[in-house]
Amino acid sequence: MDIAVFSTKTYDRRFLSAAGAPRHALHYIEAGLAPDTAVLARGAGAVCAFVNDRVDRAVLDELKTQGVGLVALRAAGYNNVDLAAARQLGIAVASVPAYSPEAVAEHAVALILSLDRNIHRAYARVREGNFALEGLLGFNLHGRTVGVVGTGRIGTSVARILSGFGCKVLAYDVLANPACTGIGVEYVPLARLLATSDIVTLHCPLTPQTRHLIDAAAITGMKRGVMIINTSRGAIVDTRAVVDGIKSGAIGHLGLDVYEEESGLFFDDKSDEVLHDDVFARLLTFPNVLVTGHQGFFTEEALTAIAETTIANIDAFERTGKPLHAVQ
Ligand code: NAD
Repeated sequence: MDIAVFSTKTYDRRFLSAAGAPRHALHYIEAGLAPDTAVLARGAGAVCAFVNDRVDRAVLDELKTQGVGLVALRAAGYNNVDLAAARQLGIAVASVPAYSPEAVAEHAVALILSLDRNIHRAYARVREGNFALEGLLGFNLHGRTVGVVGTGRIGTSVARILSGFGCKVLAYDVLANPACTGIGVEYVPLARLLATSDIVTLHCPLTPQTRHLIDAAAITGMKRGVMIINTSRGAIVDTRAVVDGIKSGAIGHLGLDVYEEESGLFFDDKSDEVLHDDVFARLLTFPNVLVTGHQGFFTEEALTAIAETTIANIDAFERTGKPLHAVQ
């Protein structure tokens, strides 16, 4: 099948070609998928899209005109797709529900450890010949309470790792996961989790219910000096509210791998450009904030699994008219 791969980077080319060649003709397009680029899918039976591609009604209308029958997301989340429009137009949508939860879970733990022990600051200091310890004081993870919001694949992996560190792990989810209760995780209401956790780490999907789950009111209900980690989707956190929380000391550390306005910012080298997003610019000024550019998934194992499942979705669609992991 001819597949138009949008938002292509060198790593997408490497892993998708290894999984899909020679069965499919993969057309790599650097541009993101948007109303004015959807026409580039002409002649393709499927498009392959990523997290910040815009798969709204206008794009889907254009894809339909171009004869595209499948949108194969090379990602777990599908909040960027208008599923109702896709259904109406008869365009199938597929995602990669599970590729390597450990990749994202380990990145969340990397953010926790880096922030706690000020590794990001120590790295810069030592390179400048500054070996002073003032300002680098951390805390033991052992014995601390961590609140995991969303205990699916990634949240459960985080719970397992942090249990190994000797943390007390609390969880909140709309559904309890026996894999978590089995390792001693205690499910509590969200308000109690927020009030008692030293670290709150977010692993639920972005839905209308979870948008700005962490807002000014939620921050008020947290332990003073709490560490907040978001490797899920940016808009689960109200960024302006956390900026205020950091300024007031209500939030002691913030680790973000995702940002609510990351589209158009993340995944590209912008180092020669002026940053126009004042909220994001403010975040970067704080010593106790660590931001990575949506790289939780970025391991050899995860990229191999993402590419193989994406191609398996396309193979199944070609054979049966249905992808392996349809999201509608
Ligand atoms: P999953 O579907 O296995 O787990 C999600 C969990 O969230 C489920 O247990 C679900 O019941 C729970 N949930 C749903 N609504 C909730 C709510 N209102 N309150 C509390 N919990 C709720 O998903 P996963 O594979 O663990 O991935 C979690 C999220 O991580 C994805 O939705 C995606 O946004 C994000 N993600 C980020 C990266 C990255 O690179 N940073 C990579 C992959 C996934």
